[in-house]
Amino acid sequence: MPEGISRAALARQLGLSRAAMSSIIADLLEMGLIRESESAPVSRGRSPILLKVNPDFGKVVGIDMGATHVGLILADFSAHILKAEEYPFDVSQGPLKCLREADLRLQAFLADTQVKLTDLLGIGVGVPGPVVAEVGGVVAPPIMPGWDNFHIQSYLEKLWDCPIVLGNDAELGALGEWAYGAGRNERHLLYVKVGYGIGAGLLLDGQIYRGASGCAGEIGHITIEENGPLCTCGNRGCLEALAGGRSIAERGRKAAQADPRSQLSSISAEQITALDVAMFARKGDIIAQEIVAQAGGYLGTALASLINIMNPGLIIIGGSISQMGDLFLEPVRQAAMRRSLPVFSNAVRIIAAYLGQRSAAIGAITQVLAWSAYRSLAQSK
Ligand SMILES: [Zn+2]
Repeated sequence: MPEGISRAALARQLGLSRAAMSSIIADLLEMGLIRESESAPVSRGRSPILLKVNPDFGKVVGIDMGATHVGLILADFSAHILKAEEYPFDVSQGPLKCLREADLRLQAFLADTQVKLTDLLGIGVGVPGPVVAEVGGVVAPPIMPGWDNFHIQSYLEKLWDCPIVLGNDAELGALGEWAYGAGRNERHLLYVKVGYGIGAGLLLDGQIYRGASGCAGEIGHITIEENGPLCTCGNRGCLEALAGGRSIAERGRKAAQADPRSQLSSISAEQITALDVAMFARKGDIIAQEIVAQAGGYLGTALASLINIMNPGLIIIGGSISQMGDLFLEPVRQAAMRRSLPVFSNAVRIIAAYLGQRSAAIGAITQVLAWSAYRSLAQSK
């Protein structure tokens, strides 16, 4: 609510009496979590006093550790972004090297902002693996070798002397897009992160759905082809092994060697990444376009099953591969629509992430802001 909301409107939205609302508002004002401001003057009578989140209550950082990049965002308490940066990163180097690198990046990131680590209310951290709250880390993560059962949360809390809120990157992507992106006001949405791997965040009935183990949404490991290529999880024919960035890059390398007519063969095969394949596809290279379209078709096939089961109103495709735009999204839509029942396909839209590469980092900000507000409320009781 950047423009603010009146007490009466808030009471209506929350279904509370004005008396109950007044007492809650008084507490929040006293704690400094929100503040009052006058709205634009109305033609007759007093202009209502509006309530806003107090941006100066404190600052937070969101960190999105992807397989091949790390994004950092500094925000005030109203989620206004003060600074954002992104750097290359290699999560397969294991926790000690990676977290040391994240530490150096964060220190350098904050150096010219006059914000110290000790000033922060908390840091939200997203990682590309199944996060289990009791571990404060990831369990058997397919694309994070060496991280199994490493206590990421407590390690970072000690390192930075600051509260850490850990989450799965795709789940945080769903949260970020729901709060500030393409998914506002949507109660049933899936956010699918297609990067090096593939994962999903599920928001069902207005709530993030985590399941019995706390890490639901690993759609990258749905079997698409029983005897398909080997996946990082050990199984064969998983969606991720057919449509993830790693598989797109591998196909690009093979095509570069096999077909000299393709523009892919203009760069050395071992260096080809998924983004190179995307670039040549956009430039009109038919072989690269086929690779991208085939990956999109596989993703759409997997999404059709999810559409039939979960009946979402919106599917948001994020992550670096989604930046290929309609070259990738159109085959996703076509396969998903063709293979799901009309009653469900008529209800769902499949669109690109509004926050682009920042969905998960903004989700990490959203989560740590909510956590900070709850903690402040709990401490005031
Ligand atoms: Zn797999």
